[in-house]
Amino acid sequence: MHVYDKFYINGQFVKPLGTEQIELINPANKQAAGKVVLGNVEDTQKAIEAAKAAFKTYSKTSVKERGEILSRLHEALSDRSDRLTEATVQEYGAPVSVATMLTKIAVDAFSHMKETMESYPFIRTAGTAKVRMEPVGVVGAITPWNANATHIANKIAPALAAGCTVVVKPSEFSAAQTEIFMEAVHAADIPAGIINIVNGKGEVVGEELTRHPDVTGITFTGSTLIGKRIAAGAAANLKRVTLELGGKSPTVILDDADLTKAVPLAVGAGFINSGQACLAGTRVLVPESRLEEVKRLMAETVEALKVGDLWNEAAVIGPMVNQKQFERVQHYINQAIEDGAEVVVGGAGSPQGLEDGYYVKPTVFANVTNDMTIAREEVFGPVLSIITYKTEDEAIEIANDTLYGLQAFVFSGSTERGNRVAEQIVAGRVSVNGLHDEPKAPFGGFKQSGIGRDHGTYGIEEYLEPKSILGHNAVL
Ligand code: NAD
Repeated sequence: MHVYDKFYINGQFVKPLGTEQIELINPANKQAAGKVVLGNVEDTQKAIEAAKAAFKTYSKTSVKERGEILSRLHEALSDRSDRLTEATVQEYGAPVSVATMLTKIAVDAFSHMKETMESYPFIRTAGTAKVRMEPVGVVGAITPWNANATHIANKIAPALAAGCTVVVKPSEFSAAQTEIFMEAVHAADIPAGIINIVNGKGEVVGEELTRHPDVTGITFTGSTLIGKRIAAGAAANLKRVTLELGGKSPTVILDDADLTKAVPLAVGAGFINSGQACLAGTRVLVPESRLEEVKRLMAETVEALKVGDLWNEAAVIGPMVNQKQFERVQHYINQAIEDGAEVVVGGAGSPQGLEDGYYVKPTVFANVTNDMTIAREEVFGPVLSIITYKTEDEAIEIANDTLYGLQAFVFSGSTERGNRVAEQIVAGRVSVNGLHDEPKAPFGGFKQSGIGRDHGTYGIEEYLEPKSILGHNAVL
């Protein structure tokens, strides 16, 4: 059994000082898949020390030098694409088409960021002042398991573009992906200390990053609960904090939408990444007059989805990442039934023949009101709720009646109307008439979905501080 017992600190693979281990379980068959050795506070401090030392020179590099580093990372990760995809299928349980897409996003993060950085105005003027955009310092990057390599890439790329050095604390459940990432960093021949990677628990490695005075920025993707804890911890020395947190995104199907197109898109939006996606559209708002049609089409669409058989290109739903996540999703399904929701398709338990893995039944509920737990809390599994509305205004009101504000989807027969509704939804991203993505557009949330934005120029700015130089032309 493979033991993941390497960290990447100061340009070298090093053995952990921490001795605690956790077992990794393949979620598709519940078989032991490896062990990860977890870092302790001292491991974390060594990584921070290396990042601090490297910052002195790295922060002074030119855009050209940083561009070369981003290109090398792009190439090194690209060379390992197949292995990364394989690890994502085996360790996380993503269907191969999803894992391939996640790998591509991770690889492309470096080339996109290089392009963005090359046209970014690091030096500008404000009135008579010269303004220099300077790196914040050492950044602690903490990532979740639902797209581990993608999140690492999306955090490292802008931080490096800005001139920061980083210490990454990946999800402890993603050690295979992390190991491949470390190998790519090493192969890219990045000067020592710029990128450091330490596996470990959030309460140990994550909290040390949050607490340590030499870490001046934290970028975190994960749950709202932990995000709040990090923000509170980081406040002690006023670190810059970027938080990409949870969601309970609405999918608004307007009454002029072609339901034969809108319903499959709504299912796609809700079940992205087997429903283990922060941006999943899990509240499907439909006109009351078209409820029966929507229910019929939902049932047909969901029953046709390929669940399991992860290496089949047609597979769309994989298992939940672990036992805890499986139980969490079952809990929400049972609670919704107790609260009076109607099961349109799916329900509690595992799909027939897939009991050996952490599979849940892709589930759609109707008869849900927006005050029910299933409509308010993030399930993080393939579970959708249909909520009806009478008027467009009411649809917008329900869409915005949530603690979150990460993403929304709007489907309408009229592009103009779709855009009009999109403008009224309080969310960091709204996708009109499709499941669109734009890696250069800001990604992040309003309200309790977070603080700050990833991607593009907005992403770089999370790692920069403006410095005004007054009298830069003055002569004494
Ligand atoms: P999580 O919050 O439990 O853990 C995320 C990371 O934080 C892990 O690396 C974990 O070890 C670490 N952590 C845990 N406790 C910590 C602490 N006290 N201090 C510092 N770090 C700590 O989330 P998860 O279960 O890994 O991922 C699922 C969550 O992530 C969902 O809520 C989902 O919505 C969210 N998510 C958000 C986005 C986004 O971009 N908005 C993207 C993906 C996932």
